Amino acid sequence: MPALLAIDEALGRVLAHARPLAAEEVGLRDASGRVLAEDAVATTDLPPFDSSAMDGYAVRAADTPGTLRVVDQSAAGRPARARVEAGQAIAISTGAVVPAGADAVVPVEQVTVYGDELKPEAVASGDNIRPRGRDAARGSLVVSAGTRLGPPQLGALAAAGIAAVSCARRPRVSVLATGTELRPPGASLEAGQIYESNGFLLAAQVTAAGGVAEVLDPAPDDEAVLRAALERGLEADVLLTSGGVSVGPHDLVRVLLAELGVDEVFWGVAMRPGKPLFFGVRDQVLVFGLPGNPVSSLVGFELFVRSALGALQGAASPGPAYLPGRLRAAVRRRAARDELVRARTHVEDGTVVLEPLSGQESHMIVRAAAADALVLIPRGDGELPAGSPVRYLSI
Ligand code: AMP
Ligand code: MG
Repeated sequence: MPALLAIDEALGRVLAHARPLAAEEVGLRDASGRVLAEDAVATTDLPPFDSSAMDGYAVRAADTPGTLRVVDQSAAGRPARARVEAGQAIAISTGAVVPAGADAVVPVEQVTVYGDELKPEAVASGDNIRPRGRDAARGSLVVSAGTRLGPPQLGALAAAGIAAVSCARRPRVSVLATGTELRPPGASLEAGQIYESNGFLLAAQVTAAGGVAEVLDPAPDDEAVLRAALERGLEADVLLTSGGVSVGPHDLVRVLLAELGVDEVFWGVAMRPGKPLFFGVRDQVLVFGLPGNPVSSLVGFELFVRSALGALQGAASPGPAYLPGRLRAAVRRRAARDELVRARTHVEDGTVVLEPLSGQESHMIVRAAAADALVLIPRGDGELPAGSPVRYLSI
């Protein structure tokens, strides 16, 4: 294996190859989780008209306090016909158009009604009115390009009258588990066999990262079968393999990828777990060879693949999104490799405290299933004491 790359260096090389995919029009109903390819601007002022913030009465502020006559009503979606003249009021509901002539709304809680006479408390001009365009003016930015659309953004786009948006298409990601020993969950195990887990784990990560996973049948460590499977996987935008990428005699993935025209960008990252991670490209196709141990696959995805998928979708900040926290217990540092330690988060005195879990070996996927964080422990000497500030990824 050549000299190991630092995590950041490796990530930089990955992102240098991940260009946004072509954009397509997406109806707002289907846009949740998609990334905007172009700035979205308001098609109207928001609110589109001066509207009432309260249920009450539209008045001329100068007439309050005093005695007013109610001459009409303005309900949401049904503006009043009349205008408010001196000594008059118009009943109004929240979100209804403020009638001409009025410059304030008296809330219903601040009036007394005697027959058709109204005695409002005093209000100032502008009280309880939401001015047209105060949230956003027509033509102004609603959501910027590169933003992943979540509930608030979808609500804002709809409010601004935008029915469809432009988003990079979702990356198609082939997922190929390799290893002669792999059997599907539920099958009976013969000597030396284990259940295939990475295909499930990676497919779920791909979906969560906005990609479309195409899970291929796991391939044994057999040149012909594996070559055919890799060839198929290279038809997608991204190929993720797991296993067969280390230095053993049955680790065929790198050799076969090279034969299939994949150029190696790097092989080997100074991290634990997941050191023998491979990254290469064939034309626009990105290929990640993730080490087979399930926790190595999981970590390799979180550190590199998730960001690549974000960049393919045009995300302004593709990540990884490290968060700050503190160690609850001391962790021994590795001399030559940064370590991603599985941990559970707690909140103490308003800060996140990370409890490293027992069972940190890369085959221990059941132990990792109890974690909700990967804590980055930079390489170094001795231990990082309890209370040390660290960065972590939420998983
Ligand atoms: P490899 O990277 O192929 O040397 O595999 C490293 C370890 O991970 C071995 O113990 C494999 O049996 C195991 N492994 C490889 N692929 C998978 C998989 N898809 N699911 C579960 N374990 C795997
Ligand atoms: Mg293997």
